[in-house]
Amino acid sequence: MAKRFARRKERTQDIASERIVTLLSVAEAEKDMQLRDRYVSLALQVKQKYKVRVPTALRERYCKQCRTYLVPGVNCRVRLKQGKRTIACLTCRRFRRVPYSKRPAKVLKARRVR
Ligand SMILES: [Zn+2]
Repeated sequence: MAKRFARRKERTQDIASERIVTLLSVAEAEKDMQLRDRYVSLALQVKQKYKVRVPTALRERYCKQCRTYLVPGVNCRVRLKQGKRTIACLTCRRFRRVPYSKRPAKVLKARRVR
């Protein structure tokens, strides 16, 4: 019984991670800023409910604090300094620092939280 439950949970998490990737890619294609933010907040709700991780490449496209979709030059600022990329949200002034390396970034599937 427990095994079946675990398998079902795994399946729902797979579907949830697929949905997050879809929502964030739809947000990227969308022109309306309000709709973009709505897609981001839906993706984060799915993430929270099913305990799924957002892929690293997609994680920097939205602001974790105010849940807005970040467009460099429009509502966020990106600066390179001392081996780190600083992404500043201009809506809530939150910073996110991501170290950059010479290796190309891998685009991974959304991972499950164990
Ligand atoms: Zn923000």
